Amino acid sequence: MGELRVRSVLVTGANRGIGLGLVQHLLGLPNPPEWVFAACRDPKGQRAQELQNLASKHPNLVIIPLEVTKPASIKAAAASVGERLKDSGLNLLINNAGMLVYKTLDTETQEDMAQVYATNTIGPLLLSQEFLPLLKKAAQGSPGSGLSCSKAAIINISSVGGSIKEVHMWKAAQCVSYRCSKAALNMLTKCQSLGYREHGILCAVFHPGWVQTDMGNTAGDKPPVTVDESVGGMLKVISSLSEKDTGTFLDWEGKVVPW
Ligand code: NDP
Repeated sequence: MGELRVRSVLVTGANRGIGLGLVQHLLGLPNPPEWVFAACRDPKGQRAQELQNLASKHPNLVIIPLEVTKPASIKAAAASVGERLKDSGLNLLINNAGMLVYKTLDTETQEDMAQVYATNTIGPLLLSQEFLPLLKKAAQGSPGSGLSCSKAAIINISSVGGSIKEVHMWKAAQCVSYRCSKAALNMLTKCQSLGYREHGILCAVFHPGWVQTDMGNTAGDKPPVTVDESVGGMLKVISSLSEKDTGTFLDWEGKVVPW
């Protein structure tokens, strides 16, 4: 597996957890991207302090305001990224932002179902739609006919919790809205892989492992996987993806996850 070489990448939910880890790893690559767009809700706020520190040291890091449940915010983010990239496209879109609500079959509400679906499923759909012209431009500008993440790709961060076959950790946490939103994100990714293949865009969905983040830590015991391990693993796998991998569901170690 080679190391990831990509000219431009955008990560959502980049101010903490796995998103922040992805940005740190991308900046630390031997051949880092020319542009790392780190999208978060409040770039100037306290919660983006680590990103601001990184941006002061890395001129290739640009912090972009983005609330993934707001179409106007997504449009503004795409416009701002497009302006910076000028004539080139965006190679890699990583839809990482997500939320989890601990509810059961009995306690799940209409509001939670709608909010979690808006964040985890509709957000990635709208982002992919708005960034499609930039992804297509990147694909057209890259040599070679096969699909790859250095050419043009959408990577959606899902969860084994959304696997209908595994229904992972059901006894520990039912999290119905989360499971449904991630199962739908998995299907969205499959649809994107079928629809965007002709444009030269690879689409895949990842389970990052059970990871030591604010979200991962709320699940009870200490998660077994560190952010560094998860992100390092995913970027390695991402760098190795080719035509045959579009439309697949993989984990951070490259193993296929059942749908
Ligand atoms: P965290 O809770 O640590 O971070 C979530 C990130 O998403 C934050 O940056 C948060 O921003 C952002 N976010 C949430 N809602 C929105 C929104 N509406 N608009 C913009 N940004 C938003 O989670 P993780 O880092 O652990 O999770 C990252 C991804 O990995 C998620 O999709 C999650 O479902 C998935 N995952 C995580 C696992 C784990 O064990 N950690 C296991 C399986 C999957 P803010 O700071 O503004 O809230």
